[in-house]
Amino acid sequence: RAKAGGRNRCRFFEPEMAFATRERMALETSLRPALARGEFTLHYQPRIDLRSMAIVGMEALIRWNHPERGMVWPAQFIPIAEETGLIAPIGRWVLHEACMQTRRLMTEFGREICVSVNVSARQLAHGSFVDEVRQTLDESGMPPHCLELELTESALIADIERTALMLRELHQLGVKLAVDDFGTGYSGLTYLRRFPIDVLKLDRSFMLQDGAGISTFDFVKAFVDMAHALKLAVVAEGVETADVVAFLRAAACDEAQGYHFARPLTLAALRERLAADASSGP
Ligand code: C2E
Ligand code: MG
Ligand code: MG
Ligand code: MG
Repeated sequence: RAKAGGRNRCRFFEPEMAFATRERMALETSLRPALARGEFTLHYQPRIDLRSMAIVGMEALIRWNHPERGMVWPAQFIPIAEETGLIAPIGRWVLHEACMQTRRLMTEFGREICVSVNVSARQLAHGSFVDEVRQTLDESGMPPHCLELELTESALIADIERTALMLRELHQLGVKLAVDDFGTGYSGLTYLRRFPIDVLKLDRSFMLQDGAGISTFDFVKAFVDMAHALKLAVVAEGVETADVVAFLRAAACDEAQGYHFARPLTLAALRERLAADASSGP
């Protein structure tokens, strides 16, 4: 009894850090076999063309169906996967699954559908990444221009020389390259000159910040104009309201994704959404 009480007390007073570490270790232990056990699945968030308002593609977002915890969000396990190196096999699976499923949807709906896949710095650092992409395109029969790879600013500036070389190779394959969460980093714009980037994904916070003097609309408008002058397409992330949609259309932003249009959907729900979109179209 005393021992049990002691353990409880110990747990009660356990510093938060130690608790977080144990939590992390528990997650890490169950993350290792998760891929082999088929516990991952992809959800897809539609991306809307702001001129036609049609679905032009979607972003693949990984979900982990943990046997005891239920759904675990990527923010909780992607950092662990990155630190442990598990991101390499997980990322390979995401790329393959996204291309196979999207290619099948293209056949079903008889039109091109683009898919965006998130790639972490650690994956990019892997020597064989370009080969993996090439092989996945071959196996899935996915047209290269329908695959977009999303990279964060921090991944891009990790090793500029190597990254520049790899991105050039990827670009030569014909895949699109996007900068994710644009506007949250501090890297500035210089890397846009070094890398063959096609798309900037404006982070949600970019549109919410009200500057000292410049209105958010003027800021976003000027930004979109600059991106267009550099032949970059702009996608707004985290669009939650009709007001923001109107604002982005007025600013000539190209595409948008967010809860206003759709949450990340299961493959089955995405299929229904694409079917509804097709029947309501012109
Ligand atoms: P991200 O690539 O910036 O993805 C967008 C995140 O914003 C997603 O969170 C999405 O569900 C959420 N979101 C979409 N629309 C809205 C909105 O209107 N409002 C708000 N508040 N949020 C919205 P999710 O799915 O939890 O993913 C979080 C992050 O995890 C992603 O951010 C991405 O960096 C990473 N991630 C997801 N899947 C993968 C993957 O397969 N590989 C890698 N390396 N990272 C991934
Ligand atoms: Mg993304
Ligand atoms: Mg993003
Ligand atoms: Mg984001």
